[in-house]
Amino acid sequence: MTTLERARSKNAELNCFLEIFEEDRYAARQGSLSGMSVAVKDVLALKDARLTCGSKFLEPFQSLYTAACVQRLMDAGASIVGKTNMDEFAMGSSNENSAYGPVLNPWDTTRVPGGSSGGSAVAAAIGACTVALGTDTGGSIRQPAAFCGVVGMKPTYGRISRYGLTAFASSFDTVGTFSRTLEDTARALEVMSGFDEMDSTSSRVPVEKYSNALSRDVAGLRIGIPKEYFGEGIEPDVRRLVEESKAKLQKAGCTIVDVSLPHSKYCVADYYILTTAEASSNLARFDGIRYGRRAQGVTSLEDTYRKSRSEGFGREVKRRIMLGTYVLSSGYYDAYYTRAQKVRRLITQDFGIAFGECDALLTPTTPTTAFKFGEKVSDPLAMYLNDIFTVSANIAGVPAMSVPVGLDSNGLPVGAQLITKHFDESTLFALAKEIHVRVTDQLPL
Ligand code: GLN
Repeated sequence: MTTLERARSKNAELNCFLEIFEEDRYAARQGSLSGMSVAVKDVLALKDARLTCGSKFLEPFQSLYTAACVQRLMDAGASIVGKTNMDEFAMGSSNENSAYGPVLNPWDTTRVPGGSSGGSAVAAAIGACTVALGTDTGGSIRQPAAFCGVVGMKPTYGRISRYGLTAFASSFDTVGTFSRTLEDTARALEVMSGFDEMDSTSSRVPVEKYSNALSRDVAGLRIGIPKEYFGEGIEPDVRRLVEESKAKLQKAGCTIVDVSLPHSKYCVADYYILTTAEASSNLARFDGIRYGRRAQGVTSLEDTYRKSRSEGFGREVKRRIMLGTYVLSSGYYDAYYTRAQKVRRLITQDFGIAFGECDALLTPTTPTTAFKFGEKVSDPLAMYLNDIFTVSANIAGVPAMSVPVGLDSNGLPVGAQLITKHFDESTLFALAKEIHVRVTDQLPL
């Protein structure tokens, strides 16, 4: 079966793609990535293709240009398979917030694939592409990667241009990848990374040859185990497999050190104050006038805004816009928004101090393996707590990778998370190769 045939046949069952392209629609030129097929999360622009962001609001919208990261891959010879399903505007941890129906987890279709980049995680896991692009604002690459058994890479904030990415929380949003292999992850990252004049937050720090890091010796590296990430609520199999990864790193010559990230308990609250604030501002552009759908039967401008937004946005997006406008409102701004910015500084400092003592951190990616559909939809807080180990890397802007490290007793994938200093993606690759277990080889297709 070709990759495209697999994408088509599996999509009917799993709903991971919102659109699959004809073979030659976004076909490859020759280049270092020729032969690589890429699935693109439907929050990234691709000229003349849909860009729904998983929302009804943008159902009729077509992209006018192509996102920088996608363009770089195509220029290097990669071809684009299709656009992947996602939680609406990248808000969610289960894909249950997509206006186009949830994506199913290929390991157990009664379970969620994770979110918000669930479609991309599944597309990579089932071999419907070589690499899938995702975005990670608080874990939306790493959490679904862990739930689906693939490598999920969230680079440093600013490593990859955000030009052509529909903004959720601009100071957190990061483009990254899903893949079954570390090699393909490295190849795609090398091509996408680097300064882009269309995104002033993209970095001029030189891009390393990440593929080379895959043969680097890790002996002598110091691995920090943050005690706050190994407390209660972690499933025994998750704990056991992360412990096994630790032992593998030790065997490869790494030194294990205990470290502390003392402000960890504030991470989830901090994340949900700051990102909803940014989202409420970013999503103000969806007003029924400029993009996508416009409500019918309205008589005034005010009505156009109100009705278009009421009809176009789903429940979770509305909840976040309301939370965000609340924390930014005068009278509450200092108590919530300003205070949360100060806490962001403290959390970032925690990482700085920890990286004085070690080269990388090792944690579980998520406290549990993939949960069942419906399990957390009625309890937003329980859903938000699933992000407990992933949001901190976005708060601090540091790179992090979820690496498949085995299957639990139900046959579900478990991910371990590695975190390094800003722009030290190479060390992530070097360490990941010591613990990576290619669980997708056991996925019945
Ligand atoms: N699950 C988190 C949220 O709902 C992360 C989302 C993301 O990284 N885009 O906000």
